[in-house]
Amino acid sequence: MNADRKNNIEAGRLVPAIYIHIPFCRKKCNYCDFVSTQIDADKTTDCADKYLKALTREFAYRLPSTVYRLPSTVYVGGGTPSLLSESQIKFLFEKLFNYFHNYESSIIPEITFELNPESITGQKLKTLKDYGVNRLSIGLQSFDDDILKFLGRVHNVKDFLRCYETARKIGFMNINIDLIFGIPGQTLENWHRTLNGAIKLNPEHISIYSLTIENGTKFFENGLQKDDDTDADMYEFAIRFLKENGYHQYEISNFAKPSFECKHNINYWKNGEYLGFGLGAVSYIKGRRIKNTENLTDYLNGKFRSEVEERNPEQKMSEDLMLGLRLTSGMEISDNIKEKFSARINNLKNDGLLKEQNNFLKLTDKGIMFANCVFREFL
Ligand code: SF4
Repeated sequence: MNADRKNNIEAGRLVPAIYIHIPFCRKKCNYCDFVSTQIDADKTTDCADKYLKALTREFAYRLPSTVYRLPSTVYVGGGTPSLLSESQIKFLFEKLFNYFHNYESSIIPEITFELNPESITGQKLKTLKDYGVNRLSIGLQSFDDDILKFLGRVHNVKDFLRCYETARKIGFMNINIDLIFGIPGQTLENWHRTLNGAIKLNPEHISIYSLTIENGTKFFENGLQKDDDTDADMYEFAIRFLKENGYHQYEISNFAKPSFECKHNINYWKNGEYLGFGLGAVSYIKGRRIKNTENLTDYLNGKFRSEVEERNPEQKMSEDLMLGLRLTSGMEISDNIKEKFSARINNLKNDGLLKEQNNFLKLTDKGIMFANCVFREFL
């Protein structure tokens, strides 16, 4: 092992977690309010090439001060990162890892890449593996083709199964499947079938999200309404079902087999530092939250940043609580938090929503069901 790298590892000199955003999708889903742009097949190569060049300019702008250090985790999300071609995937990782002196990607504990089934091929998966990607996150959302159509997804269940099986054959041993519940028209039985379909494949990690109808989405424009009671029933069912099938809930929406919890996301929930690159990406360094522009033209022209927010100690504590309580292991309560929030914490304990164990504050089972109400108390 190279001496510099060895010293860096021994000294624990890691750069924070790194997030890279790829904002292109084949089609905008009906519920999507992420920073993503629909892009036609014939324009993908050209647009993605331009975008990757801008990304490398952002790497050059922000990474030199961290040369020779290794990221603790890397997460390539979107959008649809799997829309990138094989050569674009290579280009992205080559450019990124150039900043980490004589790196070996196998030293980075977790490199995640998000995929959508319609845009992945065996060859792209092999390329990801060659570049050290050791965790895949696949957007399945439902095991029902009618629901996938309703959501505006491009893939069907068959596409997903082909993608999952190919990834396994190529040797990916840490796969997350994303699922959505609380979809108008979806029954509890239908949700059960989706969960059952997922666990039968034996993925290491499952994320479940309640559909939200956000302003600016097709669902919002169409006035789609949700039923909160069905939503709660589906969530409660999923917690029980996944637990019975060996998936431990470590965060409000996330379930994993032992030791397959997502390291990158745990860092977010612990309010750790991270660097975000790409359109709309957010970084959190030394108490400052830096948000990149969401305007693609500005980004391509090298105008990366749009907002910088300084956190005062009180905002930081309230953020620590709202993020840390998402983890089922809870968060250690500092004297400052006790002093500042004791009345609110006590009220929530009296309502049976929070509990304290060995100086850790946690949501109770009831608190998990009403997590948003608990978080509002700390705003
Ligand atoms: S694939 Fe994901 S990011 Fe792209 S439009 Fe659909 S929900 Fe949004």
